[in-house]
Amino acid sequence: MRGHADFVVIGGGLAGCAVAYHLARDGGADVLLLEQGELNAAASGNNSGSFHAQIPVEPFLNQGEGWARRFAPTLRLMMAGIARWMELPAELDAPELEVSAKGGLMVARRPGELAMLRRKSAIERAEGLEVRLLDRAELLGIAPYLSPDSIGGTFCPIEGKANPLMATFAFARAAERHGARILRRTAATGIARDGDAWLVRTEAGPVRARRVVNCAGAAAGVVAGWLGLDLPVEAHPIQVTVTERVAPLVPHLVYSAADRLSLKQTAQGSVIIGGGWPARLHPLTGLPVVDADSLLPNLRLAIAAVPAVARLRVVRSWAAIVNGTQDWRPILGALPGAEGVFLCFFPWMGFTAGPHVARLVAECALGRRRLDDPEIAGFAPGALA
Ligand SMILES: Cc1cc2nc3c(=O)[nH]c(=O)nc-3n(C[C@H](O)[C@H](O)[C@H](O)COP(=O)(O)OP(=O)(O)OC[C@H]3O[C@@H](n4cnc5c(N)ncnc54)[C@H](O)[C@@H]3O)c2cc1C
Repeated sequence: MRGHADFVVIGGGLAGCAVAYHLARDGGADVLLLEQGELNAAASGNNSGSFHAQIPVEPFLNQGEGWARRFAPTLRLMMAGIARWMELPAELDAPELEVSAKGGLMVARRPGELAMLRRKSAIERAEGLEVRLLDRAELLGIAPYLSPDSIGGTFCPIEGKANPLMATFAFARAAERHGARILRRTAATGIARDGDAWLVRTEAGPVRARRVVNCAGAAAGVVAGWLGLDLPVEAHPIQVTVTERVAPLVPHLVYSAADRLSLKQTAQGSVIIGGGWPARLHPLTGLPVVDADSLLPNLRLAIAAVPAVARLRVVRSWAAIVNGTQDWRPILGALPGAEGVFLCFFPWMGFTAGPHVARLVAECALGRRRLDDPEIAGFAPGALA
């Protein structure tokens, strides 16, 4: 194959399929998306489907308030991300996305945890996030299923969930309806300048494109490396556990203020327990596998927050690679020194923000949004370096 496209998108996760959709729909562009494996087979299809808006506990505890203030502008992208999710079922004709926002509760069981939530929520409110401190009576009034030894917490009404098994495919179908071409099982293997365009090498032959969008998730650094760029992106194996289906028990997204926990119930009744506990890489295959040393403390936190979870049978735990950055901030926009190559990389919580940041990056790539637009400029590659 020697192909041609206006835009080549590398990566068929949520970011890549959403970028392809916006390029094709909003720009009427000729788009070719390359996915090395199957669509949605990496982080986007293996995550726990939470919409996060509150600052996560673990980096707040480990990296402190200075970190939280540098991270805080990211909350605006997450808030906009959740608002964007609300539009998607109708826009993509996809009721199966199971988008729901009944609010998130961060639950404290010790006075020190409540004090931490007070400090953290002040930073969140300063960014415009609606987040309320609750005393014990208010908390248990909203969520009587929580442990009676909860002493208070925070409530963020916009948090919620969607179905990660469906979202990427809904974008992919919509992108194809608008003329995008999607090549599965076709890896990009290199990028080189070709006159005023780029030559993207692929397993099926080269493709000449005016512009390229790097949506390779945890492999975004590899793709940027082909251009001689060193991006501060990371890849971490983490794990999630799902229980049997039960009658409605937990309407909210529940977190622990003590450590890593996210807990929610799907529309089908399964309880999903995650929070970013580390998995392992198998020594022979190099693939992510569940780590029992993480499973037990994760389940213990879940039961401590919601005691009824102790009665449920675990059906499955799985591990997958999450795209990360040390400072948890996304990297979005034009890659320096490689005119016409763009990056859409949202770490750790890229399910929440993915659909929104994909639209921002697509608009930049189409030349419809300025790169110094305040919504995105602060997240440009190297912006804080
Ligand atoms: C276990 C787990 C739980 C999580 N829970 C949540 C959560 O509850 N809420 C939340 O907001 N976020 C969560 N996340 C994070 C979120 O899933 C990711 O940030 C997001 O899905 C990243 O999307 P992406 O499209 O950038 O990357 P990915 O989904 O990883 O997609 C990248 C794609 O690029 C492809 N690719 C890479 N290199 C090439 C190449 N050279 N050529 C062609 N294709 C290539 C890959 O095969 C892959 O399909 C979780 C992640 C994990 C792993």
